[in-house]
Amino acid sequence: MRKLTLIALLLALALAGCAPAWQLTLTGGDAPVVFDAAAWKALAEELPDPDREDALRLEQVLWEAGFPAVERVAVGGASYEWNDLHDSAWLTRRGVLELGEAEIELGPASELAVTPPALLAQAEASITDIAPTIAQALGVPAPAQATGRALTAERAPHVALVYLDGFGYLRYQEARAAGWIPNLAALGEPLCALTVYPSATRNATAALLTGAPPIINGVRDRDLRTTEAETILDVLKEAGRSNQVVEGNALAFNLRNATFKLSGDVDGDENTDDEVLANTLAVLEGGMPDLLFAHFHGIDDAGHGDGPDSPVEIARIQEADRGLGEIIQRLPSGTLLIVFADHGMRAVQEDERQGNHGTLLARDMFIPIILYRCP
Ligand SMILES: [Zn+2]
Repeated sequence: MRKLTLIALLLALALAGCAPAWQLTLTGGDAPVVFDAAAWKALAEELPDPDREDALRLEQVLWEAGFPAVERVAVGGASYEWNDLHDSAWLTRRGVLELGEAEIELGPASELAVTPPALLAQAEASITDIAPTIAQALGVPAPAQATGRALTAERAPHVALVYLDGFGYLRYQEARAAGWIPNLAALGEPLCALTVYPSATRNATAALLTGAPPIINGVRDRDLRTTEAETILDVLKEAGRSNQVVEGNALAFNLRNATFKLSGDVDGDENTDDEVLANTLAVLEGGMPDLLFAHFHGIDDAGHGDGPDSPVEIARIQEADRGLGEIIQRLPSGTLLIVFADHGMRAVQEDERQGNHGTLLARDMFIPIILYRCP
């Protein structure tokens, strides 16, 4: 019996010794990043993938390694468009890189070259900068764990956030060129900014409110609805400052310490933006709070259901722009207006959807942030 155990132990040791050590060097970012079996294990323990136990989503690995957007990857002389691969690229525990149909056995000195989109060179802000910007404007501390920075040093008596769900930076530029958004265009050039991965509303809202990325605020999974980290709403509450959040028909994210108003689709036109606008104008009628937060969902809903660049989506963009025009007219003088998106949208061919987001592709990751001081 004892002999058998010894043989088993020796066999296990031999097998462990035979298992090839793998190491993947990721190039194309600021500096090469080495990802190996130990890094794999650490990330898998921190963020187990709900779909697979034996593999990490390569997109998650790239984000954690510091790549905020991806256009193409190359390995072993072959190049792959990220658009074709984002959902079928995995890195297994044993060091196999699965890229769609291709399976690449990694060795001790493998390299993956990452090409980010050219637009990355223009990125000058992050969704995590918005909470520090609000704090700076209103003269309160930034949320405790914020890593973002204030985008203006100026103070303001009020801040108005106009949150255009799913209206990415590239779509903004197309809409502006097409003449669909005269009111937005009149506010001046937007900052080219990045959202966080996964590029989805809950993760982006957590980053927006905390001023910190998912690894800090804890909202790394797109199903999480709450964060333990301090938010700008917590800070305002602590400072005795007022806020009013106008949301659509439900809260996608727990807005702790918000004074909020939901906007159901009372007229049954399958769009809550008209109700969000009416509720926002009603708030302004009653007196501007220190922070106003109006979340328009129409562009995102139309992007998913009918597709980006569908007639419905274009109508929602134009409607949001008209609504913005009405809001601006009623904002008190000196208000700092911040118009932004949480993520973008790209066309997909799926059974139930014409558009989606959530990846590291440029259409999903780049967002506009527009700062405007009301006269
Ligand atoms: Zn969406």
